[in-house]
Amino acid sequence: MSKRIAGPEIERLIQLLAKVPGLGPRSARRAALHLIKKKEALLIPLGSAMQDAAEKVRICSTCGNVDTSDPCMICTDPRRERATLIVVEDVSDLWALERAGSMNVRYHVLGGRLSPLDGVGPDDLNIVSLVSRVAEGEIKEVILAVNATVEGQTTAHYITDQLVDFDVRITRLAHGVPVGGELDYLDEGTLTAALRARTSI
Ligand SMILES: [Zn+2]
Repeated sequence: MSKRIAGPEIERLIQLLAKVPGLGPRSARRAALHLIKKKEALLIPLGSAMQDAAEKVRICSTCGNVDTSDPCMICTDPRRERATLIVVEDVSDLWALERAGSMNVRYHVLGGRLSPLDGVGPDDLNIVSLVSRVAEGEIKEVILAVNATVEGQTTAHYITDQLVDFDVRITRLAHGVPVGGELDYLDEGTLTAALRARTSI
């Protein structure tokens, strides 16, 4: 056991912050101290923002996105083109594509990628709901914007097989996505180029 440096409330704050991606114990201590010093400007508003988010966050039952409404704002946006659907592994990829802002369409979030070694099979992903959406007939193109990793490509092949009987064009991202690359780390220009140069599967 390492020596405690503060009371249990502050220790707990540090321990929880240390679990945030990108923060380790050292960064968590720095962050906690910063929050405490900025109590009025940061710690109190952050606490209430987290409580609000915890109470209101929903998973969209249509697309798997996270939002404070179900269906989410993207699914209910009447200005989005309905014939094209972009399939992503995670919400972070959806956000990356929205930041790039190159296509005004809707999405389907798989919630991961096929990975037999990690015990992730088709039933663990939102694939059945994807097939149901395509079966409704409104979608004419499905863009598989999965990561350029082995698991991502395995997932793309599996989905392609599931959609083979539908009258839908299936495309994937082309140039600019480095092998092994994750979409969330690409700049907006590269993502936009990859979308524009998508190829049929
Ligand atoms: Zn949605």
